[in-house]
Amino acid sequence: MQINSFSDFSGQDKIKNYMSDAAKNDRANHAYILSGRNGSGRRTLARLFGTALLCEGEGDKPCNACRSCRMAASYNHPDLITLTHEKPTVISVREVRDQLIDSISVKPYYGGKKIYIVPDCEFMRQEGQNALLKSIEEPPSYAVIILITDNPASLLPTVRSRCTGMELLPLSDSIVKDHILRTTSANDREARICAAFAGGSIGMALSFFESEDFKEDLKNTLDFIKQSKNLPANEIFAFAKDISENKDRILNILDIILFMYRDILMYKSIGKDASLTFIDETGYIESKARETDYEEISKVLKTTEDLKGRLKSNANAEAALDVLFLDISV
Ligand SMILES: [Zn+2]
Repeated sequence: MQINSFSDFSGQDKIKNYMSDAAKNDRANHAYILSGRNGSGRRTLARLFGTALLCEGEGDKPCNACRSCRMAASYNHPDLITLTHEKPTVISVREVRDQLIDSISVKPYYGGKKIYIVPDCEFMRQEGQNALLKSIEEPPSYAVIILITDNPASLLPTVRSRCTGMELLPLSDSIVKDHILRTTSANDREARICAAFAGGSIGMALSFFESEDFKEDLKNTLDFIKQSKNLPANEIFAFAKDISENKDRILNILDIILFMYRDILMYKSIGKDASLTFIDETGYIESKARETDYEEISKVLKTTEDLKGRLKSNANAEAALDVLFLDISV
């Protein structure tokens, strides 16, 4: 679903209100840094802000009806420019010159503004930032530059000090869940699980929802956890071997185990009022909580957390997965 208004964009009310007011009252600054994690919606919000600033309509902006809004919605507005870079982790000086510095002095085609959105600014080296600095220091009156980054500290202090900083903070699970329900075909269970795994990022939740691998891993891992008590050791090792090839999938599977064991722990301490991620597995969670003591649950949680940490530093997973899965099968 395309997000065409600030009200369609979930969360980040403070930033949205600022942007909406700045567009309505024509009081935008010349340079912004929009920071936040990948998947937090920085580009979407930057485009909304740009569209609102260019909007020729009356009242709330963007109006989504005027010529400017229609051009922006179809990615066809000559005054709403998003920089691109060829190499995945480098923005070259040449790219900054060609796409921004050389054209910023050319007046806007239509209204009174010209918006530059620069994604991935953490990939801009010092030379690129220095080249950009002049445009930020003495911009033409109509120009607005929006720098997007997951790491504002990667920008030079001279650049940072001339920009208005806005940080997109992680959203609550319930906001993420509501957004998934509102904008996709997800059912309540899928939306709740994707939100739990996404850690406050709508983009991450959407990518979990769209991932067939994730759905398969979720089903297989939950089946494994539920059946592991009756599985012979060779089948437990076979499951570990099967998933140990792919690190991204292992991390997802470890998270599934963590969420399941947190549910078991919650149920054991709070009972049926516990707020569970895997609410439709309540029957299993209840019986597991009853027959497992706190020590065993904590052991699985700790082993899983440790393994996640070790995988991030490139450890071999298979042997450690064997140990973890044997703990689960107790
Ligand atoms: Zn408009």
